[in-house]
Amino acid sequence: MIVAIDGPAGSGKSTVAAALAKQFGLLNLETGAMYRALAWKALQHGTTLDDATAMTALTGETIIHLEPGSAGNRVLLDGTDVTDLLRTPEVTAAASHVSVHPAVRTWMVAEQRSMGLRAPSGVVMEGRDIGTVVFPQAKVKVFLDASVEARGDRRFQQQGSPSAGESKEQITREIAERDARDRTREASPLKPSPDAMVIDTTELSLDAVIARVAALLEAARK
Ligand code: C5P
Repeated sequence: MIVAIDGPAGSGKSTVAAALAKQFGLLNLETGAMYRALAWKALQHGTTLDDATAMTALTGETIIHLEPGSAGNRVLLDGTDVTDLLRTPEVTAAASHVSVHPAVRTWMVAEQRSMGLRAPSGVVMEGRDIGTVVFPQAKVKVFLDASVEARGDRRFQQQGSPSAGESKEQITREIAERDARDRTREASPLKPSPDAMVIDTTELSLDAVIARVAALLEAARK
């Protein structure tokens, strides 16, 4: 069983994917964490993010593994757990820069396919291109979306105390910029697969979204 969940930042992908994986006993893989890990390494090495040749060379000396954890995936970069270093605004922006390079994507997709296919009882994989490129044969494909304001608001609430981080306006602006890059890049732009169920989550509770996707999964299992 392969479940593909795609959508922009703040659309609820991670929460929905984690809940479904738990409910159906599937492995949950967050592919965005892999782009973040590569971006983090590039920042550490001083690699120019927009340099396709340098970024492609970096993938040749990088091993990224996702492992299931109690609160989402743990990310092993060259054998070191970097999970807690990947959610800063700097790494978030860098990930969306490195993800435009076709050769970087080809490398990521190969890794993601092999991790997904190794999962004994199946996988819920979330990202931007899972239904279109990584697993076009997925039995269940969902594309979650929401207004940019709703997504900015969710991310703002997630970061905890407002004084701890950025303002809501800043977060919303960053999401809009990242969206534009993800949607307009030439290699595997963010878009729903023609056979995906598109769910606008702006006005829906997460429980309602989870219930809808769970119903799709139940139907696909029969
Ligand atoms: O999902 P997350 O916010 O962690 O993704 C970080 C960035 O990685 C995205 O903005 C996008 O540019 C890139 N990404 C991608 N394809 C995926 C997953 C993430 O291009 N399958």
